[in-house]
Amino acid sequence: MEGLLLIISGPSGVGKSTITNRILERLGATLSVSMTTRKMRPGDVDGEHYHFVDEGAFESVVEAGGFLEHAVYAGNQYGTPREPVDKILASGGVIVLEIDVAGAAQVKGKMPGAFAVFIEAPTRDALLHRLRTRSTEDEATIQRRFGIAQREIEFAHASELYDAFVINDDLERAVSELAGLVESAMAARG
Ligand code: 5GP
Repeated sequence: MEGLLLIISGPSGVGKSTITNRILERLGATLSVSMTTRKMRPGDVDGEHYHFVDEGAFESVVEAGGFLEHAVYAGNQYGTPREPVDKILASGGVIVLEIDVAGAAQVKGKMPGAFAVFIEAPTRDALLHRLRTRSTEDEATIQRRFGIAQREIEFAHASELYDAFVINDDLERAVSELAGLVESAMAARG
């Protein structure tokens, strides 16, 4: 049986990566490692969080048709390598894509069977606070990401892309809710 493609989106600072890691463990799923042109941040591990590349290398993958989707976010390129996704799906596994709303729209267009979830902060202030406290970036970058985040949230709700919205008010609760949603989606497909 074909596996499940799970898209997890949400504004930066919402705790998506933590939720994603917990879901990977809980469901024995595989994370799709994106390619990006953004600069490495402290704590980033090349090949684990992202494949960090320059513009030239990114463009050659675009030209070779190697991305399932790709998009620009906050001035940097991000893309999902196609091959690992196809392999996991063919073997019946669960593959998780942690991508933005533009990427989610592209993937849903190509793979309507994908299950897409949007993670939200409990309030706007909570999101700004999380962006500030976790960030190693300057205030202008934080404000820019906050602006993008607000547009993403509006877009996510206005679009029909997302199958579910999960509020990260409490990590354990949010992880359990998401795991339950994915298990139901898999059961519904038989
Ligand atoms: P960050 O730079 O904070 O790691 O990620 C910025 C945004 O890019 C996040 O919303 C993240 O989900 C998104 N992103 C990461 N990888 C990809 C990708 O391969 N494709 C798309 N479309 N977005 C991505």
